[in-house]
Amino acid sequence: MKKTEFLQWVKFTICFLLISAALVGTSSVASRVVLTSATSAENTVEPLTVIIDAGHGGIDGGAVGDDGTMEKELNLAVAKKLEAIFDAAGINVIMTRRDDVSLGESTSSHRKLDDLKARVTLTKQHGKVIFISIHMNKFPVEKYSGLQVYYSKNDGFSKVLAESIQSYSAEYIQPYNSRKAKAAGSEIYVLDNALCPAVLVECGFMSNRAELDNLKNENYQKQLAVCIFAAFINAVENKNTNV
Ligand SMILES: [Zn+2]
Repeated sequence: MKKTEFLQWVKFTICFLLISAALVGTSSVASRVVLTSATSAENTVEPLTVIIDAGHGGIDGGAVGDDGTMEKELNLAVAKKLEAIFDAAGINVIMTRRDDVSLGESTSSHRKLDDLKARVTLTKQHGKVIFISIHMNKFPVEKYSGLQVYYSKNDGFSKVLAESIQSYSAEYIQPYNSRKAKAAGSEIYVLDNALCPAVLVECGFMSNRAELDNLKNENYQKQLAVCIFAAFINAVENKNTNV
C-alpha cells in the first residue's frame, strides 16, 4: 500500500471510530461493546465476541467474475480488513477462516454441507457471539448492483444489525442503493441454523462490471469494512440503551 493510501485509510478509520465513540458516549468503544449476560441478576457482563465469516474457500470458490475473480478471495480480503478494525477497537474476534481453505472434509460427499455446519458450530462454542458473514453477489443480468444484507430470524438483534449495516452503507458509500435488509430463509444455511445474532452481507454484485472493479479495490474494501464496523457499534449501542 502506498503511504498516501495508508494515511487516507487511517484518516477514514479514525473518523468512523470518533463517530462511533461519540455515539456510545464514552472514550472507550470496547468498554461499551458488551451484552448483558443471562446472569445479569448477578450484575455480570460477558464480553462480546464477533465471528467474522469469510464465505466459501478452498475447493469452493463461490461466484466467479467475468475476469476470473473468485468470490472467496474478495470475501477473505474484506473479512481480514474487518478483523483488523475490530481488533484495533479491542473487541474479541474469531475468523472462520484466515486462509484459502474449506471448513468441510475435502473428501466428503457432503463437503459443502460439512463446511456450512462447521461455520454454524463455531457460533455455538464461544458464549455470547455475533456472526457476520461476508459474501459477494452475482446475477445473470449486469445492471443490478449494491450491498444487500440478510439476517437470521432466530434472534431479534440480527434484524437490528442488518438494518444498521444496510443504512450505513447507503449513507456512507452507496448513496444510490435503496435496498432493504431481508430476512433469510432456509436457502441461507448459516443464518437459518445459527441461534445467535447473525447477518450475511452480500457486499456487491460481481456481475456488475463497475461494482466488481470497486470490490477488487483495496480502498473500497476498507470502506466496506469500516462501514460494517461503524454500523455494528451503532446497533450494539442501540441494543444496550434499549435493554
Ligand atoms: Zn457467496
